Amino acid sequence: MAAPDYNKAQYLISAARIDQLPADVGIEVAFVGRSNAGKSSVLNRVTQNLTLARTSKTPGRTQTINLFALDEERRLVDLPGYGYAKIPPELKEQWRKLISDYLTYRKCLRGIILVMDIRHPLKVFDLEMLAWSSRSQLSVHILLNKSDKVSKSEVTQALNSVRETVSSYPGQITLQTFSAKKGLGAKGLREVLDKWFGGDEDEDEDDEENG
Ligand code: GDP
Repeated sequence: MAAPDYNKAQYLISAARIDQLPADVGIEVAFVGRSNAGKSSVLNRVTQNLTLARTSKTPGRTQTINLFALDEERRLVDLPGYGYAKIPPELKEQWRKLISDYLTYRKCLRGIILVMDIRHPLKVFDLEMLAWSSRSQLSVHILLNKSDKVSKSEVTQALNSVRETVSSYPGQITLQTFSAKKGLGAKGLREVLDKWFGGDEDEDEDDEENG
């Protein structure tokens, strides 16, 4: 299968419950992150579409799973994030259930892109995501976003420290630095997405039986 054309991403549907999602077939890659980590900016950067994922953050309006179709079989998924103390507890519970249901039951989910602010990595939200993902045996690729905001040595320090922490989690966890603002790391992210979406030819060859 050829790699998807991310520029062709088109809004498909928003779901407040997992039974509102489209049929569980094909491949999905989900983007998740604490509010303000830059998840919308990352999605917009990947698709080179400045208006795809809305960067407005009215709590309550952001509690849906938003899907974007790349083609007939492949979708990018924008999972609701939280982080604002303002969110009422019942909404937070609703949020937890929506995300945990999605991560637990969605068979076409191939992996998670976990977006963090490089200056504030591994908050409770992120650790919870990592725990859920490893329980569901999902691949996770971490983006340490807003790397344009810190010095080179702080970038290295953050990478090393996050790498060390995630090494204690079971499962497939990779990480890289990123800047949605500057586009730094976009190539690395695309390679991960291509691989997960089955657009990596080497991967396909590896999967073939050699007669
Ligand atoms: P979300 O809540 O995770 O979807 O975050 P947004 O994408 O709305 O971004 C939150 C704020 O961080 C906005 O003001 C963005 O312009 C800013 N932002 C996002 N990514 C970057 C980045 O890589 N560098 C810088 N400097 N700012 C960023």
